[in-house]
Amino acid sequence: MDFTFSAGALELRNKVARFVESEVIPLEPRDGRPLVTGALRALREKSRSQGLWAPQLPRELGGQGLELPDVCPVFEAAGRSLLGPVALGCAAPDEGNAHLLLLAAGETQRERYLKPLARGDIRSAFAMTEPAPGAGSDPTMMRTRARREGGAWVIDGKKWFATGAAGAAFVIVAAVTEPGAGPKGAMTLFIVDAGTPGLRVTREVPILGGGTPGGHCEIEIEGCRVGDEQVLGRVGEGYALMQARLGPARLTHCMRWIGAAERALEIAARRAREREAFGRPLAEHQAVAWMLADSAIDLHASRLMVHEAAWRLSRGEKARLETSLCKVFVAEAVNRVIDRAIQVCGALGITDQLPLAHFFQEARAFRIYDGPSEVHRMVIARKVLKGS
Ligand SMILES: Cc1cc2nc3c(=O)[nH]c(=O)nc-3n(C[C@H](O)[C@H](O)[C@H](O)COP(=O)(O)OP(=O)(O)OC[C@H]3O[C@@H](n4cnc5c(N)ncnc54)[C@H](O)[C@@H]3O)c2cc1C
Repeated sequence: MDFTFSAGALELRNKVARFVESEVIPLEPRDGRPLVTGALRALREKSRSQGLWAPQLPRELGGQGLELPDVCPVFEAAGRSLLGPVALGCAAPDEGNAHLLLLAAGETQRERYLKPLARGDIRSAFAMTEPAPGAGSDPTMMRTRARREGGAWVIDGKKWFATGAAGAAFVIVAAVTEPGAGPKGAMTLFIVDAGTPGLRVTREVPILGGGTPGGHCEIEIEGCRVGDEQVLGRVGEGYALMQARLGPARLTHCMRWIGAAERALEIAARRAREREAFGRPLAEHQAVAWMLADSAIDLHASRLMVHEAAWRLSRGEKARLETSLCKVFVAEAVNRVIDRAIQVCGALGITDQLPLAHFFQEARAFRIYDGPSEVHRMVIARKVLKGS
């Protein structure tokens, strides 16, 4: 594989890094709350006017037109602040949902949903996960059903952890449309407009951290009628489309988190040089220096793994194994790096004078969403066992 990024991507990476440093970090809320709407709108306008908006989207949708491997360094620069991706139009879940709409939306759906989403005029949510005993790690346990009635679809079910659903203009709802057709052939995705009778966002679930606009929501769906024009892709294609969304979405999460972890390491290194204990800088105590070294190793390996998987996806491979390898390793590495940074900074590390406590809270969920580490290990182990 070729390890070089295009000149355009490197230039954009540098611009994004400068923007995040000078415009985004000073506005970072340390209490983990989302930035107030007016300030966020102004920040987004600034990023747009500087040609930084939506690095991952095609130019005809107002983005910067980068291929997935070139997205790696740019998302990393954006991710140095948890506010960065929101300011630059490349945050989850809208980034993954726009990618899904690009893959599967018909012409009318592109106009109505993809274009305003790409501009950042509206927000979106994706609702697969259900409270027990429904779908979670295992999507084939889905209980939400959509049935035909009077020439329309009627959806019934309960979802939770739909990120960003409060205030979203639409929710992409996964439902079983053909019970008994086998787990993978039985699901369909529906684009449901906010305000459609029968779909109610009932609450934002309070969680550890939680600075995401629109929260992580519980949704009740009861007798929700939608027409055929709200089907995303084809009937029965839902499982395949969810996988097509998740492959790149897992990697883009990794890219953004590598940026935050790199910043955590830099903060720890600075503190280790400046703070003294037992007659010398912390950095001169081997136990501290090795924590920094271990974090650098974690980050280097993470970058290479993500770049390789992105390269495979961009060549049209499914890269199921490689995205799982990345998801496990990077989610766990990022948590280790942030944890070590806090340790090196001592008590200061958990104050609001540094962003580390906020990173720490937010990063924990990364080992759970887009597939818990254990589920990806299961996928990896299956491949290993098949090959032996
Ligand atoms: C911050 C956050 C945002 C999210 N956003 C969204 C969203 O926008 N849309 C959406 O649909 N969902 C979202 N989710 C839900 C997420 O996708 C699920 O939490 C995830 O799929 C796991 O499902 P579960 O929580 O039901 O865990 P469960 O299925 O109950 O599993 C619990 C634990 O069991 C273990 N486990 C499960 N299967 C195996 C196995 N085969 N082998 C070994 N151990 C196993 C794992 O340790 C797992 O963590 C989000 C979750 C979080 C935390």
